[in-house]
Amino acid sequence: MNSGQKVQEQNNEKTIEFGRWLFAQTCTFVIGAAKMEDLPEAKQTEVAFAGRSNVGKSSLINALINQKNLARTSNTPGRTQQVNFFNLGKLLTIADLPGYGYARAPRETVRQWTDFVGDYLQSRVQLRRACLLIDGRHGIKESDREVMKMLDKNAVSYQIIITKSDKIKPVQLENLLSKTITEVASHVAAHPELIATSSVKGTGIVPLRATLAALTTER
Ligand code: GDP
Repeated sequence: MNSGQKVQEQNNEKTIEFGRWLFAQTCTFVIGAAKMEDLPEAKQTEVAFAGRSNVGKSSLINALINQKNLARTSNTPGRTQQVNFFNLGKLLTIADLPGYGYARAPRETVRQWTDFVGDYLQSRVQLRRACLLIDGRHGIKESDREVMKMLDKNAVSYQIIITKSDKIKPVQLENLLSKTITEVASHVAAHPELIATSSVKGTGIVPLRATLAALTTER
């Protein structure tokens, strides 16, 4: 092992430890915002979670903050779509975006979803990254592509997070990852690294915490 590698490993260990520490801080619900005027003051680094309805977003947020029921599925059709904000200690704000793609045409849902959520994503100076959740069983769908295009267009940095990886075989996961990496490479605002997670098994939670925690120290 050369000294460069050692430094890298120490950095990784430090980041993992920082992620563990950060996500052990008290997480509190701030507000459910349905319009721009409701948005909380942007005081700290923010990350947003987006994905199709039922992708496993609430489960993943709850797994990250190690609580059972803080984030809830808020996608009941007909209910006002809102962005739920949570503060993790005094360092990170988590924005839980409404799910999209629920039994409608991809373009139409994304257009509706885009109204307020799009304004939020484009205007939020504190927002460092949007985690775009993709169900491991389905891969990237048309509605996800519409959202990716919107994020690219507005230069919102985003990262693909695979969910429910426990539901597919390792070889299927490998195939999905390589296919997704290839697709992501053509998207200008997409982060090149993917993280595969399972909220049920706890897979990928430690690296995702580390990745998000590291964003709080970037200026
Ligand atoms: P949301 O609508 O995106 O917030 O999705 P939820 O977190 O409510 O999850 C939707 C469904 O998928 C629920 O029945 C969860 O129990 C299930 N689910 C979520 N994450 C996982 C996972 O990692 N593995 C498995 N097997 N099921 C999951």
